Amino acid sequence: MNAASGGGYVSPWMDEELAIFRDTTSRFVEAEMVPNEPLWRKQQHVGKDIWRKVGALGLLCTDISAQYGGVGGDFRHEAVLYEELGRRGLSGFGQGVHSICAHYLLNHGTEEQKRRFLPRMARGELIGAIGMTEPAAGSDLQGIKTRAVREGDSYVVSGSKIFITNGYLAELIALVVKTQPGEGAKGTSILMVETKDLLGFRVGRILDKMGMKSQDTAELFFDNVRVPAANLLGGVEGQGFYQLMSDLPYERALIAVIAVASMEGALAETIKYVKERRAFGRSIAEFQNTKFKLAEAATKTRIARVFVDDCITRIVKGSLDTLSASMAKYWVTDTQQEVLDEGVQLHGGYGYMNEYLVCRMFADARVQRIYGGTNEIMKELISRSL
Ligand SMILES: Cc1cc2nc3c(=O)[nH]c(=O)nc-3n(C[C@H](O)[C@H](O)[C@H](O)COP(=O)(O)OP(=O)(O)OC[C@H]3O[C@@H](n4cnc5c(N)ncnc54)[C@H](O)[C@@H]3O)c2cc1C
Repeated sequence: MNAASGGGYVSPWMDEELAIFRDTTSRFVEAEMVPNEPLWRKQQHVGKDIWRKVGALGLLCTDISAQYGGVGGDFRHEAVLYEELGRRGLSGFGQGVHSICAHYLLNHGTEEQKRRFLPRMARGELIGAIGMTEPAAGSDLQGIKTRAVREGDSYVVSGSKIFITNGYLAELIALVVKTQPGEGAKGTSILMVETKDLLGFRVGRILDKMGMKSQDTAELFFDNVRVPAANLLGGVEGQGFYQLMSDLPYERALIAVIAVASMEGALAETIKYVKERRAFGRSIAEFQNTKFKLAEAATKTRIARVFVDDCITRIVKGSLDTLSASMAKYWVTDTQQEVLDEGVQLHGGYGYMNEYLVCRMFADARVQRIYGGTNEIMKELISRSL
């Protein structure tokens, strides 16, 4: 399946059942997503219908047990969908963030919260988002200002969030708030906020980004919004930082999975292109520079793939540590940028045109080094363990 990096390498975690699952997933993606991508790019979001369809087909919350409405698979099933989207450059459908939101509930929610939200998330009826970043606080999350004050059976929330993936379509937001200002990490909590008919809640602009044009990254505003106290994740105040930290390996590995899939997709596309394109009486593929650049890109892609495959296997076993996940997030996304840059170069001027997949992938890839914790923050974390 990962023939792009040569030698017919197959991920060791793949098996027959996953091959069938991949086949179903890739047929669906080809039929229902690829043809809609130009429209999605124009309108800056994928619309809610596709979420309902993906849910109905059983492609959401695949690693969550049937008891909570999930598919009852494991992270390999999630990886298959990320890969099928990533290799086609379909960056608008924010499945990763939806999954992370569902995992906050699964890992930290009360039993009642899991039963209330997860089945609807699995059906694609509640599109998930994560609201951490604020205009004045990104890497340094302790600086967030969005405040939640307990009043009777509710929290009253005021503040704003920025750069929120799925922000325009979101129906359930894992919102990071201050419940005890001045208490640092201990004063932080997560509220699960349902957005439907929510007084005082407003979605701002869909942000105009360098890439990921079909992703509805948005600003969110909260003006004295009342959220039931029963929506405090886990039911105990002050747990927000601990909850965020414990799910980071999952989130970072997921970004690395998407990164390596996009490298494989771009490499396959570039190989096809250089074989067809001709200059000086021969195909571009015949120049020694092209061969060497492709050899380098294939080698980097293979190394990334083997590392990511190890992360996938360790998530399934429950043994992926923060250090390895931080290494994967930083190194694979940096390498993704290098490989895609070479893909653009080998496409010549066409590589700079948005109608070419490699161009869109290159622009999309830039943010991979920024979100999910910047790569500088990853190195900071890695260095602490040395
Ligand atoms: C397309 C997109 C989607 C996003 N989706 C979401 C989302 O769904 N939910 C959400 O909450 N957020 C989201 N984000 C926000 C993202 O996680 C932040 O942008 C990111 O964490 C960086 O924060 P910042 O933008 O405030 O940059 P800053 O924290 O201001 O960083 C600026 C620069 O300083 C560097 N820096 C900061 N601290 C250190 C340090 N200690 N050591 C060395 N260098 C440092 C950074 O690495 C960076 O290079 C998204 C962002 C984008 C662009």
